[in-house]
Amino acid sequence: MQDFDVAIIGAGVVGCATARRLALAGYRVVLIERGTDILSGASKANSAILHTGFDAPPGTLELECMRAGYREYLEIRGRFGLPLIETGAMVVAWTEAEAQRLPSLLEIGQENGVDDLSLLDTAGVAAREPNLAPSRGALLVPGESIIDPWTPFLAYVLTALDHGAQVLRRTEVTGGAFDGQTWRLETTGGPVGARHVVNAAGLQGDRVEATLLGDASFEIRPRKGQFVVYDKPAARLLRTIVLPVPNERTKGVVLTQTVFGNLLVGPTAEEQDDRERPFLTTDALQALMARAEEMVPAIRRMPVNATYAGLRPATERKEYRIRHEPERHWITVGGIRSTGMTAALGLAQHVLGLIGGDVTQVERSRPMPILAEEGDRAWRHTGHGGIVCHCEQVTAGEIETALSGPLPALDLAGLKRRTRCTMGRCQGFNCLGRIAEITDGRLAVPVGAAP
Ligand SMILES: Cc1cc2nc3c(=O)[nH]c(=O)nc-3n(C[C@H](O)[C@H](O)[C@H](O)COP(=O)(O)OP(=O)(O)OC[C@H]3O[C@@H](n4cnc5c(N)ncnc54)[C@H](O)[C@@H]3O)c2cc1C
Repeated sequence: MQDFDVAIIGAGVVGCATARRLALAGYRVVLIERGTDILSGASKANSAILHTGFDAPPGTLELECMRAGYREYLEIRGRFGLPLIETGAMVVAWTEAEAQRLPSLLEIGQENGVDDLSLLDTAGVAAREPNLAPSRGALLVPGESIIDPWTPFLAYVLTALDHGAQVLRRTEVTGGAFDGQTWRLETTGGPVGARHVVNAAGLQGDRVEATLLGDASFEIRPRKGQFVVYDKPAARLLRTIVLPVPNERTKGVVLTQTVFGNLLVGPTAEEQDDRERPFLTTDALQALMARAEEMVPAIRRMPVNATYAGLRPATERKEYRIRHEPERHWITVGGIRSTGMTAALGLAQHVLGLIGGDVTQVERSRPMPILAEEGDRAWRHTGHGGIVCHCEQVTAGEIETALSGPLPALDLAGLKRRTRCTMGRCQGFNCLGRIAEITDGRLAVPVGAAP
């Protein structure tokens, strides 16, 4: 049995960011993930908006972590060459009742420390976004931005590996016991010893607590979000993220560009019992498209590339569910519902604060693969080995990089998140055969096999 200072259960955005920070503080970390790759749970499918926290509940840990996560991302993204598109967002009022709520949203935003907000009238909205249907005004949030939802977290894990961490993929924590000093975790890959446990198991967070602590302090209630992805020409219709006036349950249906050059509409907010499979439904997708067409009429002529869905690890309450039991060397970071991609670095700071210690090690720069459409993509340079996926202009060199190094892709989903291959308008129709050839014998789960 190998012994570590900290075992982190779950390599979603929270686990990956926490592994980096704890490793930089000198802890010997093991990151244990039951999926074939990192980010294979809730974190694989989100809207990729880096939120300012303008509409977060004031005075909460969620707000604190979002603000801290946002700041740290800006500080460190240069080290890794990570993208940020400063689109800004508008919370658009479509009815008079919604327009009347905008000043109170402005006040909450200011209370939350976001001090560059302003109200736009109907003409101001139209001037900024001429393709938008006539509105009743908007709250402008210049700091809301979009990022690549996957590459930062791969970078964080690579940093953790640089600083002595280990990553166990395809390894599920199935049980464990604490002897007063050390945890002995039972996993499908054998026992793992650690002084501290961080439960970052997302949609399984309550079950992991119940299994290891004997009781769960919250109940996961998966909340599905379905999306429609429009083809690249649609992204020219809109510069700014369009947010609805939020309600109690959800931030509502958003229209946003992606850094990959598409236009995204979604997510829905639907309760479901299944924690693994977010099924797509025709009715919901058609409703999203109808809503998008009401907001941006010209979108009607735009082709759709893909649809997808994700599951938020929501719980019976709105707030993040942190359980810190110092005497049992245990921290749960649970219920990280709909803001976790933004808050992850802030949550990692919070976890280090609870365990104790400071960042003592210097993080080295590590240029990461550039997936952003407007970035300095590999295909623009010579010596890339030829283009394999023509829709997303993914080169053989990029695929080779993704299959090598300290944390290679082990399945097609991981390869997609590292390169975007097969994610364009043909959805792999033209390139999947070639990708199967290139990856033959190199993936733990071959292309075409069940996961
Ligand atoms: C539709 C949608 C839109 C969103 N949009 C945004 C957005 O625009 N901006 C933003 O900031 N956030 C957004 N989010 C929120 C963000 O994606 C989530 O908050 C975040 O992914 C939660 O991450 P996590 O690490 O807590 O959980 P997960 O990603 O689920 O990670 C938990 C990991 O634990 C693993 N695991 C579980 N049990 C075990 C076990 N027993 N042993 C080993 N491993 C285990 C799982 O396989 C999983 O990989 C969105 C989420 C959704 C679903």
